Amino acid sequence: MSEQTGIAYVHSTWNVYCGCTLAPGCEVRNRCWAAALAKVRGWNFEKPHLYWGKDVWRHPYRWDEVARRARMCRLVFASDLGDLFQDHIVVNRLRSRVWKVIRETPNVLYYLSNKVPENITRFLPTDWGEGYSNVWLAVTVTSSKTLHRMDILRDVPAALRAVSAEPLWHLLTNINLSGFGWLIIGGESGPQWSRSPMRLSWARELWAKARKSDCAYFFKQVSGLRDEYGIDALDRLSFGKTGGALQARRRPKTPFPLQPMPEKGIRFTDEEWMRYREAEEAVSKRVRNPDTDVEFADPRSADDRLIRHSSGEAARCVQEEYGVLPMDDECRTTASKSSPRAAKRSGAL
Ligand code: SF4
Repeated sequence: MSEQTGIAYVHSTWNVYCGCTLAPGCEVRNRCWAAALAKVRGWNFEKPHLYWGKDVWRHPYRWDEVARRARMCRLVFASDLGDLFQDHIVVNRLRSRVWKVIRETPNVLYYLSNKVPENITRFLPTDWGEGYSNVWLAVTVTSSKTLHRMDILRDVPAALRAVSAEPLWHLLTNINLSGFGWLIIGGESGPQWSRSPMRLSWARELWAKARKSDCAYFFKQVSGLRDEYGIDALDRLSFGKTGGALQARRRPKTPFPLQPMPEKGIRFTDEEWMRYREAEEAVSKRVRNPDTDVEFADPRSADDRLIRHSSGEAARCVQEEYGVLPMDDECRTTASKSSPRAAKRSGAL
């Protein structure tokens, strides 16, 4: 639980457990920051770890009281350390208490994001009706393969449906925003060898689609080492340098005004922006393998990464990122798949 979170599009986060049983099948499992947090703390991430203490359950009531007096509301990302709709005995038992808290704190607006929309209907409270007015339901979509989650959520009644396209790994060409009121976009953060770069042109195209569908759009970050980095990138690309209000960071309208949020994230200086554009240009130099008709990044740069980061994980990430390892014979590919060090030993690199 965090009173002030680093996630720019909400005010706070609220968690009563940390852990996710969806991890084995989750496409971002290896890059999930909740899993990383659990690892640091020595918890088994695939088994929800409860946060004990009455304060965990009292916080929403305190936020509600403050919001009620101020006649404003607080936007809270609930359960960002583990999916609230995962089917696990511990979470199933806690869920009714979570719904009770949500029902009793109407001045707190809850943002519930998940990756298993097929479970939502069966785990909603019996008095859900057309949706609690203080709950926004969201699904995470990272590529076209997971777009079907939006179709499932579209059939669930909710005060507002949102889609969180972060980390954005591919352009969502066939995204259908009808029925959705908020689109959040973000590039993947982390070290260069492990993050999958998001092109700004993808973010720009999605911004145009959101605008066409009258859907609020929030550009969270470029893909970079740190999160919340380059928050004005889309402004620079789409609107020119605005030097003021960010036009690409909008939240949906709420029945009551949101508290003004402190601006979070790091803007680009002119110099950083130039460097970023050059780097993006370099990454986007993609070539097509004539045999397989698969497009992949400049083999030299991918090769360099393999050499620089000698671990099996790096090889796997590059393979995932480009769909193909940039090796030119069977022997090199096999050796590099096991580990770049082994590849070096075998003389492949
Ligand atoms: S579903 Fe969410 S919390 Fe669970 S492993 Fe995937 S990213 Fe992490």
